[in-house]
Amino acid sequence: MMQLELSKEIEKKHLKYFQEKVLTNFDIKPKFLNITNENIHIQFMNYCKTKFRVLAIGKPEDLRKFRSELPEEILSLIDENPMCSYRGKKLKYNKLLLNIFGYEKFCNLNQYVSKELLTQENYKQINSELKHYWTPYNFVTMSNVRACPYCNRQYITPIYIHSNEKNDKHKLRADLDHFYPKSKYPYFSMSIYNLVPCCKFCNSSLKHVKEFDITDVNPYEENFDDYFKFRTDILNDGDVYIEKTHLDHRIDRYLDYFQIESLYSYHKNQAEEMIQKRIIYPESYIDELYKNNELYFASKEEIKQLVIGYISDRGCLNDEAFLKFRRDIAEQLHFIDCITDDEQLEKLKELIGK
Ligand SMILES: [Zn+2]
Repeated sequence: MMQLELSKEIEKKHLKYFQEKVLTNFDIKPKFLNITNENIHIQFMNYCKTKFRVLAIGKPEDLRKFRSELPEEILSLIDENPMCSYRGKKLKYNKLLLNIFGYEKFCNLNQYVSKELLTQENYKQINSELKHYWTPYNFVTMSNVRACPYCNRQYITPIYIHSNEKNDKHKLRADLDHFYPKSKYPYFSMSIYNLVPCCKFCNSSLKHVKEFDITDVNPYEENFDDYFKFRTDILNDGDVYIEKTHLDHRIDRYLDYFQIESLYSYHKNQAEEMIQKRIIYPESYIDELYKNNELYFASKEEIKQLVIGYISDRGCLNDEAFLKFRRDIAEQLHFIDCITDDEQLEKLKELIGK
């Protein structure tokens, strides 16, 4: 899990959307069978009005504070999830809150792009039309998150498609994960710091069976890169495994949620390729390459990163897929610290020679 940062511009655009399209729904008056519920709902919505900035652009810690300060009766109402009716339609309270916060509406592009326009050939025109609005597409594009922050294995490609004839909605292919699940926290369903751009595999295949909770660490707050390293059992079977550098049960939960170790065990070939590179690119050869190309490269490190295929800057780990994995293995193989471990190198040569 790589830490994400959102720009002030994203916050500004989301806040404006929230004020114009969400806040106005807080006056919706549903009918409940029980009059007490009705009063608590009104009380809740009034509270949400006073805290709309937090609900729109509050950081994870603000969201947790919002939740911890919610009066007991409001929490009970959400928990109880009673039936209510609005405009003649019967629905559960949770569903009503989701409608009020309007995440589905936020995702529906039909209002901005016509079905006819939505073809691959028109993607440039679609982009330029969407620029005038605030949609999940704009959010993912502006977030500059290129690789999934949960697994770092897949790219996030924001593209709108017309799903199928039955479902007449234009959908975003890149997923937005509700870190705090909308089933449990419907009032955070439009909170920008609760929306994590991620890959389909992490969002749909893995996360739908397990849910993060309010106490779990959030990718907008921490970088799990600090807590574990990918390693390969170089001198034996070359298997990929995880070495935890800090003891924290939240790391175990994260590794378990996303099946990180078993997913990366399929990429053992990348570790093997780097081992081969360790042999054919000794430090002396990198020195020579740099000397011959000094005009084009700022440093020896730059050459090394290019030919071996890793990046040492931890701040860039979301730029491409596999960057954490390759960085960790490069570190294990002493590409980064340039320590020549002769013994290890000899053993590697023996291994490759077999
Ligand atoms: Zn992923």
